Amino acid sequence: MPGAAAAARSILTQLHEVMAARSNAQAKLNRVVDIIGESLDSEVCSIYLLREGMLELYATRGLEQGAVHVTRLGIGEGLTGTIAANTETLNLDEAATHPEFQYRPETGEEKFHSFAGVPIVRRERAIGVLTVQHVEPRRYEDVELEALQTVAMVLAELIHNAGLVDGEDLGQRSGAQSGQQVLQGLGLVKGLGVGKAVFHQPRVTIEQTVAEDTEAERQRVYLAFDKMREQIDTMTGQAEFGMGGEHEEVIETYKMFAYDEGWSRRINEAIDSGLTAEAAIERVQQRTRQRMREISDPLLADRMHDLEDLSNRLLRIVSGQLGTAASMGLQGDTVLIAKNLGPAELLEYDKRRLKGVVLEEGSLTAHVVIVARAMGVPVIGRLRNLRGLVREGDEVMVDGDSATVTLRPAQGVLDAFETRVGRKKQQLAEYAKLRDVEPFTRDGERIEVMINAGLRDDVAMLAMTGADGIGLYRTEFQFLVSAQLPQRERQTRLYRDVLEAAGDKRVIFRTVDIGGDKSLPYLSSETSKGDENPAMGWRALRLALEREGLLKVQARALLEGAAGRELNVMFPMVSEPWEFDAAKEVFKGQLDFLRKQRKKLPSAIRYGVMLEVPSLAETLDLLLPRVSFISIGTNDLTQFLFAADRANPALAERYDWLSPAILRFLKRVLVNCAGSPVDIGVCGEMGGRRLEALALIGLGIRRLSITPAAVGPIKELVRKIDTREIALAMNGWLASPPPSMRATLQEWAAERGIDVE
Ligand code: PEP
Ligand code: MG
Repeated sequence: MPGAAAAARSILTQLHEVMAARSNAQAKLNRVVDIIGESLDSEVCSIYLLREGMLELYATRGLEQGAVHVTRLGIGEGLTGTIAANTETLNLDEAATHPEFQYRPETGEEKFHSFAGVPIVRRERAIGVLTVQHVEPRRYEDVELEALQTVAMVLAELIHNAGLVDGEDLGQRSGAQSGQQVLQGLGLVKGLGVGKAVFHQPRVTIEQTVAEDTEAERQRVYLAFDKMREQIDTMTGQAEFGMGGEHEEVIETYKMFAYDEGWSRRINEAIDSGLTAEAAIERVQQRTRQRMREISDPLLADRMHDLEDLSNRLLRIVSGQLGTAASMGLQGDTVLIAKNLGPAELLEYDKRRLKGVVLEEGSLTAHVVIVARAMGVPVIGRLRNLRGLVREGDEVMVDGDSATVTLRPAQGVLDAFETRVGRKKQQLAEYAKLRDVEPFTRDGERIEVMINAGLRDDVAMLAMTGADGIGLYRTEFQFLVSAQLPQRERQTRLYRDVLEAAGDKRVIFRTVDIGGDKSLPYLSSETSKGDENPAMGWRALRLALEREGLLKVQARALLEGAAGRELNVMFPMVSEPWEFDAAKEVFKGQLDFLRKQRKKLPSAIRYGVMLEVPSLAETLDLLLPRVSFISIGTNDLTQFLFAADRANPALAERYDWLSPAILRFLKRVLVNCAGSPVDIGVCGEMGGRRLEALALIGLGIRRLSITPAAVGPIKELVRKIDTREIALAMNGWLASPPPSMRATLQEWAAERGIDVE
């Protein structure tokens, strides 16, 4: 047997001629089985193609001709069906010993003992199967299988061009890729969405598999390798990757693969066999995928992802198909599929068409997740091997509420989902009616309902929801979505635009809360500072006070942006009152400077703090005389009170916001603030949930800053509450907590017809 490359090349040269000939498709396939059979010295060679969901014997050399277009097998049925179902190769010296073996008398195959078959794959779906059989029982050699696989790749092109198989969208998916599949991930952003799967980095479509000029193809691959290595080296040189830790590990692995001689040699060999550069890269990747499938080692699986990425990168370079899906524009309702995404990359997508994001990685505090939440797009993460399970164009249902992703949902499931989406929309329309209704409780208490924001576009939500203002403007978003530290002018412009758009509604700007888990690539060497517990590390004001330049710039930008208007500024992660003083001093310095410059100043400045570090609650008597307002950040407060990392999914459900510990703590803060003119509110996620909001109002909170989507539901809730009644009940529960505060509150609300779900 000659080498695999030579065997394949001899077949490919002949196939090339067949493909170029003017005969009809059936005649071509008849010729193809002869060529393969002769070249591999095989008594039988058959091609099965997918028609109406069944694998139909389309051409054969060696089996009964009467079986052609008669023998049909379902996906998963018999050896041929198994190959298609699993898109994998079978190599058996005794076919009948395989558990899936099925005998079809019309083929006359009983005399053939050995059997090998490879899937014919297009766009990662089996569209047919190529088999060879021998009378004598023998296993096929690796070189023979290699040649078969290469030929199958070329056949895929021929078959597709001849329109011989079911249309791309028919149910011809194989095995793991067929039918409905429900995946459980980590819920990162709540919400419902359904759309067609679009890969952030689309897979390259290979249009031509057989090379016209092997040397030219070799040159193309050389050039592509050079370019890819250059890209990887540039990445290594960038600050983002130069900081050690996880990034560095990833990039080192990339580098190792990019310079791997074995990889480039295998691609070259595939080119020797007569394939184009694109087909050769894909062929090698197919082979690697298959090898990896046989080794079930999670570490290797991770490396496989890296290699897939790199292989795809190489393919995109060589084919010139470079853009991400964003650059090509979304065609309809879309669920975006990616390993991971940067926040800026997400922002490039058309928000109206983006119905969900599903990631292989991702965590609650990932920047992209923060941005997606602001965009109102549901996100589910931590779905390993996602890109192996879903196909471009698959229908995908994203349920951020239950953290499930349903691939290719059955019609009934889809209908039920659409009903839920419809109900949600209807509910939203109901809430929209409350837009201009002021949220007064039944007993006439006005509850201030504000929104949390961070992106320029968020301001539009003020008008849409009828919220009272922006109770938390997370200024770090601008930093997170920028490739470098935003210049002062850019900051000023943003703050001015936000205030302008907000009109006479109040906006509370929080100075940057970066560092720790929200580290910035361009500040990474400083912000990581080797923190083992980033949430409790060098972040937010702690960082800003040390990096005074950063805070000074932001102070100037805020003061200038608010010229002629009231400026509300709030500092995050204040743990002791002196930190507030120090931050305010920075603002004062900038204010003096502007005054000297005779610049227009804000009409008033109100300074406030986030109360999210428990220690601050112990010094309220010292703090209150200094500040105008306090905003309780229950997200961080909860993690610090319970010593439970808010980003750790294993702890996500463990502690309840409605626990006596939290509620008593909040009550004590409110009692300690009583009588002071300081305005106190809550801006954590807790306030956006109805049951929790009911509890907060019961404690005495009168200002909530919440995610925009929650404004309607909370306004509706407010109008059903009698604050005296809930306060009385709450006092009783705080004094003597029931076994489950949540259940008790739910019961209490239900008795009064208050919907808290
Ligand atoms: C909080 O901690 O509750 C808060 C609102 O701030 P962030 O979620 O941005 O930390
Ligand atoms: Mg916080």
